[in-house]
Amino acid sequence: MAGHDHEHAHGEDGHDHEHEEASAHEAERLARKRIALAQIRQYGDPVLRMAAGEVEAFDDELTRVAERMTALMHDADGVGLAATQVGILRRFFVFSHDGADLVLVNPVITRRAGAVDVDEEGCLSLGSVRVPVERHLEVTIEAKDASGGQVKLELEGMAARVVQHETDHLDGVLIIDRTDPESRKEAMAQLRPRIVLAAR
Ligand SMILES: [Zn+2]
Repeated sequence: MAGHDHEHAHGEDGHDHEHEEASAHEAERLARKRIALAQIRQYGDPVLRMAAGEVEAFDDELTRVAERMTALMHDADGVGLAATQVGILRRFFVFSHDGADLVLVNPVITRRAGAVDVDEEGCLSLGSVRVPVERHLEVTIEAKDASGGQVKLELEGMAARVVQHETDHLDGVLIIDRTDPESRKEAMAQLRPRIVLAAR
C-alpha cells in the first residue's frame, strides 16, 4: 500500500546551496523510488491475481527475501508489501508499524471488530490510483515471524487497514475489487494505458 506523499515545503528565504542540497536529496529519493517501483509487479501482471500458498520453510532465504522486501517498501514510500507483489506466491508480507518493520508469515485475521470505516487507499502495484475502501477498524491477526515464532497482534485504525490490504494481496484481491463501482470505473480508466504499454 502506498503511503501518503509528503511534500516537503522549502522556505522562500533559504540559501541557494541549501536549495541545491535539498533538491539533490529529493532527486536521489525519487530515483530510489523509481528503481523500487520497477521491481514491484504492476497491475496487469497475472501474479497479482493468484492466491499464494503457505510458507513451509522458515529458513535464511525467507529472512533474506523479507529484508529485501522491507527495503523496497521503504524506498517506494509504502507502509506494506506482500510477497505476491514481488512475484513470490507465498503467504507473507512486510509492514511498518509504530516505527518497527514486521514480517507476518501465514497470516490469518482471526477477529474483525469495530465500526466499518471508508478511507482512500493506494497500492504500490496500482500506480497513482487511490480509491475508497471499506475496512474494519479493529482486527486481530495471528501469524508467524520469519523464524517461525508465533505472533498475535491486535491492531486498530491505519495498522488494521494495512494488514487487511496486505492479506487481500495473498488471495489475489486488489483494492479495485473492494471499492464502489464508480471509483472502480475511474481507476480502470487510469490503469488502462499501463496495460497497453505492458503488452508491447
Ligand atoms: Zn497493495
